[in-house]
Amino acid sequence: MVSSHGVVQGYNGVAAVDGEYQVVVSAEAFGEGSEVKLLEPMVESVEKTFAALGDTQSPLIAAPLLADSGFHSEANMKMLEGKNINGYVADRNMRKRDPSYATADRHGGKIEGIQGTKPEKRFFAPDDFKFNERGKLVCPAGSELYIGYRKHVTPNGFYGVAYKAKITACRGCELRAKCLQNPNTKYRQVYKFERRHRPPAAVNATTGMIQKIDSAMGRFIYSRRMGLIEPVFGNIRHALGLDRFTLKGNKKVNIQWKLYNTVHNLLKIFRYGWTTAMVPSGLRAMAG
Ligand code: SF4
Repeated sequence: MVSSHGVVQGYNGVAAVDGEYQVVVSAEAFGEGSEVKLLEPMVESVEKTFAALGDTQSPLIAAPLLADSGFHSEANMKMLEGKNINGYVADRNMRKRDPSYATADRHGGKIEGIQGTKPEKRFFAPDDFKFNERGKLVCPAGSELYIGYRKHVTPNGFYGVAYKAKITACRGCELRAKCLQNPNTKYRQVYKFERRHRPPAAVNATTGMIQKIDSAMGRFIYSRRMGLIEPVFGNIRHALGLDRFTLKGNKKVNIQWKLYNTVHNLLKIFRYGWTTAMVPSGLRAMAG
């Protein structure tokens, strides 16, 4: 599995949680590096849980299913459509399309006033390269760049032109340290994008999901995901102490994961009583 500590041999603990009381309605541990294969087994697992409780219809037909971008694939979107599940599954570019994140990078630097200095800009950004009156792109050192490639297209549909500086200009440039992140790079390359989206090539399950999740209602519904599922993982990890699996083998790890999720649910019953901890009738949304 790819983790923040590099690639590790490990397991993925996945849980589905109801949107009313944050009761875990299904939990499975998988020995899979990618979550994309886990959406369908989790959907089946949720349906199995409710079937065992006597429900004749999948709870996911009435309750929206919220899942993060790790679960997004065309096959998964088709699977949700095929099962008539009201899903809201983020894709990797969702935030880039969301105007409310347009200034998010402003908040990534040092906090002014605390450290006393403005965050220092380390390298020249594409905006530091300006077009001159002849329509040529000019770098901060005054050299004109030439067009390297015209039809660069980003994953989210912007057309762009790749400009390259001349090797001879960059070689002896005094501003190299502020321009080239890697000192061994021979020349600077800059992309300038036209701010227009490529029209969707074809309507498929992914584009359908993108249109749905980009709507005002879609954004509102999906925005609940983090507040529903992450506190449950936080509780299991920090309050119950499962910060790593202590067993080996999928079966044993799965039992350990289910056990901790069961304890999470039992503590809800212990603290809030049996009635409020009962979920099915109050099921509003599910997040995983
Ligand atoms: S390193 Fe190259 S592109 Fe960058 S400022 Fe110098 S000459 Fe211009």
